[in-house]
Amino acid sequence: MNFQVVGVLLGHNIKDKANDVIAHGADKVIVVDDALLEGYSTQFYADALTQVINSFKPDSFLTGATVLGRDLAPRVAARLNAGLTADATKIEIDQEKAKDGEALLLVTRPTFGGNLFGTIVCPDTRPQMATIRPNVFSMDAVDASRTGEVVEFTPEWTDTDPKVIVKEVIAKVVEGVDITKADILVGAGRGAEDCLDMVQAVAEELGGELCASRAVVDDGFADKAIQVGQTGKTVGPKLYIACGISGAIQHVAGMSGSDTIVAINKDPDAPIFQIADYSVVGDLKLVIPALIKEIKESRK
Ligand code: FAD
Repeated sequence: MNFQVVGVLLGHNIKDKANDVIAHGADKVIVVDDALLEGYSTQFYADALTQVINSFKPDSFLTGATVLGRDLAPRVAARLNAGLTADATKIEIDQEKAKDGEALLLVTRPTFGGNLFGTIVCPDTRPQMATIRPNVFSMDAVDASRTGEVVEFTPEWTDTDPKVIVKEVIAKVVEGVDITKADILVGAGRGAEDCLDMVQAVAEELGGELCASRAVVDDGFADKAIQVGQTGKTVGPKLYIACGISGAIQHVAGMSGSDTIVAINKDPDAPIFQIADYSVVGDLKLVIPALIKEIKESRK
């Protein structure tokens, strides 16, 4: 079954960005270019997006579970009387329904305080809406040679008086490393708490960054800013080396999108091995020095 991927571009003086959206994978882009959309405004963005969805009637509408996405999507869903699954960590299409030409989304998100994952379907209302946690999907390679259709859409404003006026925008200062941008991450779990210097050394040797499980953060060995998982960051590096991490669902939710996962754990039944591409059963204090030696020798 083929689906058309349509991007919606909202803003002012943004028409030249439409080809970027196509290069990133859209078949078609709907451009809403209006002075009222210059900066983000819940009121005008929700008005414009609701009109776009009412006009084009997509089967599904997805947006990022970012600060703005979490603000915008529920307002639009309420206006459309559509179901919205917020903060999704996985999306699939029901293959049985797809045989009959129906694109029913199976959207998975943490539930019951994060102790379980639930899969939600919206069989009755359209569009099926979801906000997706950043980094859950890895980005395809950008292809500047792709071509697609660009459609301009002019919203009909019923009220142009802003209900909220933004007087100043103060950029957030991010201190330390942003692990969501790292290509190589070495994750320290509770099993690595007495050899964190070794785990850090692997990260440095590979030119990567250190991250940690929540256990390590809760135990006071690492800063919350480098926690990976459901209540931490979602990461998608090219390489993730999990050191002494058991593989609890809440941790896996934040790193299972990594391209290659290497797990080192002394317990052969540790759940992390179920998602690892390479599994090393052994004590970190023996495995890590051997690993560092190998990395150094491979460079000679
Ligand atoms: P453990 O589960 O204690 O595992 C330690 C592992 O180290 C074991 O598998 C052990 O075999 C191995 N080990 C021990 N010594 C060695 C050694 N010398 N050599 C090799 N291996 C060794 N967790 C997160 O990580 N991120 C989250 O965002 C997160 N959010 C949560 C949200 C909720 C609502 C809840 C309820 C829990 C959350 N958790 C989260 C906690 C999660 O359930 C686990 O408790 C946590 O991930 C366990 O961390 P760990 O794997 O480091 O520790």
